[in-house]
Amino acid sequence: MQKFSGKTVYNNIAMGPILVMKNEDEPVVRLHAEDPQAELSRVEAACEQAKEQLQVLYDRAMETVGEESAALFEVHQMLIDDDDFQEAIQSAITDDEVNAEYAVQTTGESFAQMFAEMEDEYFKARSADIKDIAGRIVRNLQGRADVDFGSIEPSVIVADDLTPSETVRMDKDKVLAFVTVHGSTNSHTAILARMMNIPALIGVPMDLDALQTGMTAIVDGFAGEVTFEPDEDAKAYAQKRIAEEKEKAALLQQLKGQPTVTPDGREIHLYANIGNVGDLNYVLDNDAEGIGLFRSEFLYLGRNDFPTEDEQFEAYKTVLETMGEKKVIIRTLDIGADKKVDYFNLDEEENPALGYRAIRICLTQPEIFKTQLRALLRASVYGTLAIMYPMIISVDEVKQIYAIVDEVKAELDAEGIAYKDPEQGIMIETPAAAIISDDLAQVVDFFSIGTNDLTQYTLAIDRQNNKLDAFSNPHHPAILRLIQMVTENAHKYGKWAGICGELGADPELTETFVRMGLDELSVSPSMILKVRDNIRRTPYKAD
Ligand code: PEP
Ligand code: MG
Repeated sequence: MQKFSGKTVYNNIAMGPILVMKNEDEPVVRLHAEDPQAELSRVEAACEQAKEQLQVLYDRAMETVGEESAALFEVHQMLIDDDDFQEAIQSAITDDEVNAEYAVQTTGESFAQMFAEMEDEYFKARSADIKDIAGRIVRNLQGRADVDFGSIEPSVIVADDLTPSETVRMDKDKVLAFVTVHGSTNSHTAILARMMNIPALIGVPMDLDALQTGMTAIVDGFAGEVTFEPDEDAKAYAQKRIAEEKEKAALLQQLKGQPTVTPDGREIHLYANIGNVGDLNYVLDNDAEGIGLFRSEFLYLGRNDFPTEDEQFEAYKTVLETMGEKKVIIRTLDIGADKKVDYFNLDEEENPALGYRAIRICLTQPEIFKTQLRALLRASVYGTLAIMYPMIISVDEVKQIYAIVDEVKAELDAEGIAYKDPEQGIMIETPAAAIISDDLAQVVDFFSIGTNDLTQYTLAIDRQNNKLDAFSNPHHPAILRLIQMVTENAHKYGKWAGICGELGADPELTETFVRMGLDELSVSPSMILKVRDNIRRTPYKAD
């Protein structure tokens, strides 16, 4: 039995087998192939394995996201079988007498380069696919195959850290808890854990090489501890605690269908944050009154090319249709900083959180923005859409956005495509936006305060760096005063203000937010009923 402490990012308790995910790339070195024939057979087996993996991904994508997205995996299977690609690998092995890994990697690089230099946009985009399949074959050769979430038991994910694109690929029914060496309270892994109502610990000083997939672990978010290979007593105690937590959750279920209203009658809209269409189940299960933040950038993660207008349209339409008359606030893409996507070809930056991200990308590459806006407006007829823009710092940016939205509307009008005029609001997640919120309130329909970024920028504390947790105070008076000021400025101009950052679900602040007069809180689905319970106990007017 081995116990480690870490920092809890979500309170719950779970027990199960661990799945150790090591994501560091193993370097590929050039070796002399003593037996080229054996290397050729290894490549053949690794390619077969890759095609089987892609078939699994294809089948799952067909079920979950539809044919258009699934087709990519079919393209990958075909690329593996491409004669030129295979011949180039074979000749590297037989003529240059190099090892299989080196032959595949260098062939992948030169083909990717060749595609990248092509004029045709379609072929250019295949460059990332070639890199992807070469990487997959190399990982298979190194015995580091992808985890097939379809066939594993529900597991505790143990990793150094997880990127948003890794978590996006996970089959959520198969994840019992997250335990990472690195990571931070506001990372997207933490956000996902909250969504899924599963315990998560970060900053756990464990040695991944000493752990093996299949070992048992207890993850106790309440105690901030993970125990590997627990003894019988520890297992029995964990089982008892798991049952108790289930019981508490069952009690909260009674609040389903009840209004979110203070004892003195002030109604607060209690919405949910989601990242994917698949998260809608959590929204419905927890009786959210709408969606206050759909992080649309998740549609762009974990893939090799931009989602098409139609792919986006289908996703937005599904969310809007599912929610019916309930409001759905979709945030336009917030790529950059920790959410990296290769095909955006973003430069490495010294300070990515202060860099070229979110609305800055959309305003300088309007073709990307317009595709998303077209998809959103086309989908608007299927429900009650509101659009929200991230990382705003000025009124001028809002005006530029409106000009682009007007262009898109004019295009749709010309094509005879129907749309409904959505509410348009902004995230208040920079100190600049909070400070000029009286000006901004005059040009937008609503504010949604992104406390995750607002905190990082106001306190000058990187939200990804858990070494700074000791300095970070999420209840810092500077943050609370900014929230108060933003709410008052919204109300001064008859607009509504909500919070969609994680602070909105903090039970210690429910009273503060109710008293400040916030109109909406958007929280992870798993927190909806807890926050509703708190609001129903908190009078708006202090005695
Ligand atoms: C925020 O910054 O508070 C927010 C809700 O956006 P994200 O966490 O996606 O940056
Ligand atoms: Mg943000």
